[in-house]
Amino acid sequence: MVKNIALVAHDSRKAELMSWVKFNAGVLSSCRLYCTGTTGRLVKETLAEVLGDEIPEVICKLSGPLGGDFEIGAMIAEGTIDMLVFFCDNLIMQGHQNDVMGLVRLASLYNIPFATNRSTADYIISSPLFKSEEYKRIIPPCIESYKTRKLK
Ligand code: PGA
Repeated sequence: MVKNIALVAHDSRKAELMSWVKFNAGVLSSCRLYCTGTTGRLVKETLAEVLGDEIPEVICKLSGPLGGDFEIGAMIAEGTIDMLVFFCDNLIMQGHQNDVMGLVRLASLYNIPFATNRSTADYIISSPLFKSEEYKRIIPPCIESYKTRKLK
């Protein structure tokens, strides 16, 4: 079951993410949202527009370029995040491009549902697995074997 969702958008795609948040406000209202700083501020405002005072918990980490991508990445590695929606700028290289790539790598490594565009985010949030108590995300065995790898 997906409970803790991380939401991140670069400036050029923040409007697109807010539109997605608005469209899915009902489902998101039963989740806990973790966001990079500026994205989080806008998510709170957007949810308040649709849901009024009863908005879900929105936890704002640092702004992405100031370390927020790392913070979200660390939460994925610790097992706190169940799903990541990350709308990154596909046309302009970011000053913190290395952090962006690190976040993408960790989302892939830890096998969390991960959307980089709106239709994928819609497919994930409307999947029966999204609300399933039985479905358990597989933690790739390479993680455990990496921890216990033999060194000369
Ligand atoms: P922001 O960070 O939400 O603080 O703008 C997003 C990012 O650039 O990773």
